[in-house]
Amino acid sequence: MVYYLPVVPHFLGVDGNSNMESIMKKCRSCKTNESVYTWQPFGPDDSILCFTRPGYHYRGFPTIGICEDCKDNVENGNPGVIFTYKKTGYYALDHQVKETPF
Ligand SMILES: [Zn+2]
Repeated sequence: MVYYLPVVPHFLGVDGNSNMESIMKKCRSCKTNESVYTWQPFGPDDSILCFTRPGYHYRGFPTIGICEDCKDNVENGNPGVIFTYKKTGYYALDHQVKETPF
């Protein structure tokens, strides 16, 4: 007697999509769009404008996955980009990241 195990490629999502989107995460700020950039507001650059593609980030520094829209807001110094890191809330404004006052 021969048993055949069902072979399901592990990279396929439940809906059968094999594209990257099925394994991508949501933006850490708006939590709506897909995270397409790795943002490293706490280094290694002095500037908070440190964005890389996922997988190409600088090791040893916190990484925040964010979407295209939120990246634009950070780059333009707009309000509205918030995230939490180690249970502390932060917001980006005018090319600076500060702790939220609550
Ligand atoms: Zn976003």
